[in-house]
Amino acid sequence: MEGVIVQRERVAENVYSFQSDVYAQVTAGAVIGPSWAVVIDTLALPEESLEIRDFIEQELQVPVRYVINTHYHADHAWGNCLFTGATVVGHTLAREWLDTRGRVSLENARRQSTTYRQIRIILPHITFSEGSISLRVGKKTLSLWPLPGHSADNLGILVEEDRVLFAGDVFMPLPYIVDGNIDDMLASLKKIGKMGLENVVQGHGDIVLRGEIDGALKENLSYLSAIRKAVRKAARRKYPLDILEEITVEECGKSRVLIGGLAEELHNRNLRSLYEQIYGKPPLASTDDDDYDDEEEYEDES
Ligand SMILES: [Zn+2]
Repeated sequence: MEGVIVQRERVAENVYSFQSDVYAQVTAGAVIGPSWAVVIDTLALPEESLEIRDFIEQELQVPVRYVINTHYHADHAWGNCLFTGATVVGHTLAREWLDTRGRVSLENARRQSTTYRQIRIILPHITFSEGSISLRVGKKTLSLWPLPGHSADNLGILVEEDRVLFAGDVFMPLPYIVDGNIDDMLASLKKIGKMGLENVVQGHGDIVLRGEIDGALKENLSYLSAIRKAVRKAARRKYPLDILEEITVEECGKSRVLIGGLAEELHNRNLRSLYEQIYGKPPLASTDDDDYDDEEEYEDES
């Protein structure tokens, strides 16, 4: 059965990554053992999760025994229920937030379309919140440990033998901190830089190859310091939102075409969220005062 909507790449022997063509270039992964497989994240749409499952179970002929969620966001964890019988592994907070915010978001999504009709929230069965756990899949060792920043529940999954890191959303073409914390992200990115990796599968976007990792990390670190600087500058003004709205993604060193063109929007949310994390709610912009209060719920979208 050939992939229809999901792009598949072989990252190392028995290690695959999948990328969505339809939703924000979100990624997933799989590590295949001789008698069962592990899936890392589920992508956004049920058809995409099913395509991954069919590839592993029908083409490669092994059942999926474990699903690891890098974090609780919809495009990484809502497909858990489509891997029937699999044991789900995640951060303790991922379990808590899927059970609360996740259920609320799913109800909202269901009211808006029929896409998620067949989706039920399946909470991680195995959870941890500090240290690391490892999972042996055939000859491969997967190490899982917290890698916060994009969200406090983000996990990194390292295939030790291949030095391939599934980073979750702490590593993206444009860092996204709206549901997370900038200092945690800086620390996580620096940690990744010291790991001696062959490949990084980012939570969204293309695989980062060995020779590109340092450059990509540097760009992300400098973007984060650029937005911090911008937010500080804005905070000195009477109407900080006026200033924040003018700061483009390019000025902070990134292109708006990233993540399927979502970059500009994610960037604007980053600025506003970082401002609020440091200074609290800003006074309304002098020009448009209706824009601020009707902010959509977005924490489950990437
Ligand atoms: Zn996310």
